[in-house]
Amino acid sequence: MGECPLTATPLDHVFLTHAHGDHARCLMRHHSLRKMMGVERDSVYYMPEFISENAKAWIKAEAMFEGVAETKFRYPEIEPVAAGELQFLRYRKELALEAFEVKHSIPAMGGTIYFYKKKLKDEFLGKTPTEIIELRKNGVEITREVYEPLVSFMGDCLGESLLDNSRVFQSKVLITECTFLDDGEEAMSKKKGHSHLKDIVHALNELDDEIKCEKIILSHFSMKYSERHIREALDKAIPEKFKERIVAFV
Ligand SMILES: [Zn+2]
Ligand SMILES: [Zn+2]
Repeated sequence: MGECPLTATPLDHVFLTHAHGDHARCLMRHHSLRKMMGVERDSVYYMPEFISENAKAWIKAEAMFEGVAETKFRYPEIEPVAAGELQFLRYRKELALEAFEVKHSIPAMGGTIYFYKKKLKDEFLGKTPTEIIELRKNGVEITREVYEPLVSFMGDCLGESLLDNSRVFQSKVLITECTFLDDGEEAMSKKKGHSHLKDIVHALNELDDEIKCEKIILSHFSMKYSERHIREALDKAIPEKFKERIVAFV
């Protein structure tokens, strides 16, 4: 939510990873654009619990600044999120969010979205529909709960946060930051709390066949690099076996 293009207005659920402006400043623009376009349903804004009170103060201050009467002011739907807790999405009950802490220059979180479903227990797989109905009638629990990791997003973080939370590599899609690319920028990258391309490559080599992602999307490249430079740097550094799965979001 650093920017809010019109195409983002249909989003019912928005996740804020941390408070930096390039991720958060258009949160209220999203809220007001929906109102302006006549979307009745309020979006739900999920955010780390440690920033939710400050976010509320900021939202109220902005409304007062814009001349909204105190009596008319109403907070948007804000859901504080705690690391390690599974939270079903308000309007999509088959999807659940699990947040985790990452290391950045300020407190920040990433998250995984799971697809929740009930699956037939293995011991009943060969049964006919009639047998299944009979078992159900007799009160036998024939299903088990499954949480399938669909998407993980890291937000801004040090490269080591990838290995700290290595289960993100079990998600179908992983979105992670890759702010710096060049040789000699490793220390600066660490100092600023960002990932360097070498950190990503290190994680790929370290986890190797344990990586189940169909796509790994790299984003948040420093604005100083041209698109060509980004593509060339990735092409040079990403191990051959992962090349098809890495997508640069530029
Ligand atoms: Zn940041
Ligand atoms: Zn950022």
